[in-house]
Amino acid sequence: SAFEYAPAPESRAVVDIAPSYGLFIDGEFAEGSDGKVFKTVSPANEEVLSEVAQASADDVDRAVKAARKAFEKWSALPGAERAKYLFRIARIIQERSRELAVLESLDNGKPIRESRDADLPLVAAHFFYYAGWADKLDHAGYGPHPRPLGVAGQVIPWNFPLLMLAWKIAPALATGNTVVLKPAETTPLSALFFADICRQAGLPKGVVNILTGDGSTGAALVAHPDINKVAFTGSTEVGKAIARTVAGTDKKVTLELGGKAANIVFDDAPIDQAVEGIVNGIFFNQGHVCCAGSRLLVQESVQDELLDALKRRMQTLRVGDPLDKNTDIGAINSAEQLARITALADAGEAEGAERWAPACELPGSGYWFAPTLFTGVTQAHRIAREEIFGPVLSVLTFRTPEEAVAKANNTPYGLSAGIWTEKGSRILWMANKLRAGVIWSNTFNKFDPTSPFGGYKESGYGREGGRHGLEAYLNV
Ligand code: NAD
Repeated sequence: SAFEYAPAPESRAVVDIAPSYGLFIDGEFAEGSDGKVFKTVSPANEEVLSEVAQASADDVDRAVKAARKAFEKWSALPGAERAKYLFRIARIIQERSRELAVLESLDNGKPIRESRDADLPLVAAHFFYYAGWADKLDHAGYGPHPRPLGVAGQVIPWNFPLLMLAWKIAPALATGNTVVLKPAETTPLSALFFADICRQAGLPKGVVNILTGDGSTGAALVAHPDINKVAFTGSTEVGKAIARTVAGTDKKVTLELGGKAANIVFDDAPIDQAVEGIVNGIFFNQGHVCCAGSRLLVQESVQDELLDALKRRMQTLRVGDPLDKNTDIGAINSAEQLARITALADAGEAEGAERWAPACELPGSGYWFAPTLFTGVTQAHRIAREEIFGPVLSVLTFRTPEEAVAKANNTPYGLSAGIWTEKGSRILWMANKLRAGVIWSNTFNKFDPTSPFGGYKESGYGREGGRHGLEAYLNV
């Protein structure tokens, strides 16, 4: 699968990227109070895409004040009126999805096929879905007038920049809350583009505020005394810090954190189908997926057959230019993330697991990591315990369903799991025993706005998506 890197300069012409962006506060783009800025680069070639403002604690305060002021009117609107804005936003996202998909792939490094066919359709679907709820809340069994919480402070990661924004903003707005959202520092552009969509949709000023910045901006937002609800998606480490910050306040909080999912393949599973599910489970979005199937648990009797088929399939994966429609695996989002993945993969080798990757020529500039497989992994190895958040799969084996459950649950995380078997009774038995918020059977990484998503254990608490996702923004 040798691949020659061929950047596609014309793709950048699809979307207008300004040389610099301000903060989106009270319906206007404005400079940060202390004038600090940072650059966002394309991870595929390290080209600077734009310069964005670094929001200070003063900017956080301005944005929260704007959101508080907007809350009075926004929360008093009839649900049907709020729905109109959300439907409008959803339609504009569909109309501008080509621009957004290219922008997302440029800033994040994910293959255009994924941003175009997975991220963007799901983003629009989330706004459509929650638009549909806005006028139904009064008669949904929550009591006569379920009340919004107030101003939500939302902090999101870089792996699905626009989709995580949709998960946060759509239910908040549908229920009458206003928001201040901070995108991740390596992927601020699609959130700023979304700010422009809010203006295009005529959304009242201050209902959505976007503050670019790093962890210090996120920390200031979470700690702001006039925030009523904190919604965070990111690492377990930062999630714990946020839980400590909000402890002792009256803020409501939901945390969507890391994962170390088991993808469990039994000997009666259709091997080719399972291989596709394993590949999708760990190589989708370069493995930068909180619910990635990063531990393959395979029944011993089919190990050889399955691994042969998996290696053959991995040899066909194309790594390279995110804007090339044939690319399967794009760029690693940042130099820091690449260093983290490299260090963990090296630890896998040092601890005695066997490393394999298909021959593959990686581009000279940018951040890249070949799809990698580790066999001979034990539960004690770091690559079996720690979230790698990259295209690295750790293979473990089991003999009995009981052993599969024990190994799958042997992790501090509990976000997702996959089960591959023809036996329906076994799927149900396993699903009851696995301690994970999402369980897929004979498929993996399927998402839908109607379905709640969230973790057990250190993968966080609260649910986003579906009816449960509404309740996280309401006093019911
Ligand atoms: P991260 O926790 O470092 O950063 C996430 C966001 O938090 C960023 O916007 C960052 O600027 C901000 N932040 C950093 N320090 C902060 C602080 N002290 N207070 C407030 N905000 C702060 O995580 P990351 O590296 O961006 O994302 C990867 C992690 O996110 C992985 O562990 C992954 O599993 C997790 N994730 C979880 C889900 C889920 O739904 N459970 C989804 C996507 C990603």
